[in-house]
Amino acid sequence: MGNSRFEVVTVGAGIVGAACADEFARRGMRVAVVDRDGIGSGATAAGMGHIVVMDDSESQFALTRYSQQLWQRLRAELPDDVEYEQCGTIWVATDEEEMMEVRRKHAFYGERGIPTGVLDANRLKENEPNLRDDMAGGLLVPEDVVLYPPCAARFLIERARKHGAEVRLGVSVAKIGEECVRLSDGTEIRAGIIVNAAGAWSAEFTPGIEIKKRKGHLVITDRYPGFLRHQLVELGYLKSAHSLTTDSVAVNVQPRKTGQILIGSSRQYGTEHTQVDHGMLLRMLRRAQEYMPGIGPMSSLRTWTGFRAATPDKLPLIGPWPGDKSLFLATGHEGLGITTSLATARLLVDQVTGSKTEIPVEPYLPSRAAKEIAHA
Ligand SMILES: Cc1cc2nc3c(=O)[nH]c(=O)nc-3n(C[C@H](O)[C@H](O)[C@H](O)COP(=O)(O)OP(=O)(O)OC[C@H]3O[C@@H](n4cnc5c(N)ncnc54)[C@H](O)[C@@H]3O)c2cc1C
Repeated sequence: MGNSRFEVVTVGAGIVGAACADEFARRGMRVAVVDRDGIGSGATAAGMGHIVVMDDSESQFALTRYSQQLWQRLRAELPDDVEYEQCGTIWVATDEEEMMEVRRKHAFYGERGIPTGVLDANRLKENEPNLRDDMAGGLLVPEDVVLYPPCAARFLIERARKHGAEVRLGVSVAKIGEECVRLSDGTEIRAGIIVNAAGAWSAEFTPGIEIKKRKGHLVITDRYPGFLRHQLVELGYLKSAHSLTTDSVAVNVQPRKTGQILIGSSRQYGTEHTQVDHGMLLRMLRRAQEYMPGIGPMSSLRTWTGFRAATPDKLPLIGPWPGDKSLFLATGHEGLGITTSLATARLLVDQVTGSKTEIPVEPYLPSRAAKEIAHA
């Protein structure tokens, strides 16, 4: 690939770069993918793989729902190791105030054609017998899915390869722009279109975009088949996930096909090291145990951290970067990049090829970030 020319180079072989490479290659373009590490080794290896429709804003809803539908369409092609499982989400309410939020979400989703069911305390207990006894109820969203992200990224890269994409792993990118990707060893790869899909590291190549690293912790347990049936999320998760300043933890537990339980999650700004923060970990596990006391005695197999790529307005950057006609961004997906990867790829490639996008692309255009900088 040294000093060669492609139509598209994707920097980053995480789930977003993989989805973009796949989409470009399947539309017949000559694609290269470069990553300093392996396929799906960044946030993609660290994430939970919850494919979830969210209602924080209309734009977030549109992107998550569109992408979830793309995952549903892809389901039949996914190999077993992707562990696609439509287990559904239950948003858990601890009191009457949170039940009001359940009813609000129920109405929001219902108006937009998403099936959901309000669970009272008894129905919640029937659905999840290991939850604490005094919960108020919850909202069941049956179409939400769980999958294993690194294998999903590998599947997309392999499919891109079958359509002619070249993949170079273990090569570090030093600079991008003006139709050129310069590697740290000085090699240049030239392409009319360069996609910055480097996740939490994407600001290193595109000065001017504001992406902050938002650290998260996860724990995976030994096998406890049947203990948990749905992805359970506390409703307070919304409050803590939206805080732009404080460190937070919230219950987010996931049943894996293996019978293991994936326990999350935490959010922290201002820390760049990958080590486990034991104070944060303890807070996270205590919170999970408050909801499901049976988690306490479980044995854990592994604990790890990862970095979400957070933008100031909590929406990703998908599209051309003003000032360099060869440069496109597909980054800033924070805690939803597994969910929204397929829609990101579609929206990006539709923009590049001048095709009509299935949902309006304006809320995600990088020009909004560029404007903010111009007026700052
Ligand atoms: C704890 C946690 C839980 C999460 N849970 C969920 C969830 O349940 N559902 C969901 O939808 N999302 C979830 N996410 C978010 C999701 O994991 C990310 O949004 C998604 O993985 C981002 O994918 P990406 O391809 O943009 O980035 P990454 O996967 O980080 O990929 C970026 C790639 O760029 C490469 N790169 C960086 N710098 C260079 C360089 N100089 N040269 C070459 N290559 C480079 C890296 O090696 C990496 O492979 C979670 C994230 C965390 C941390």
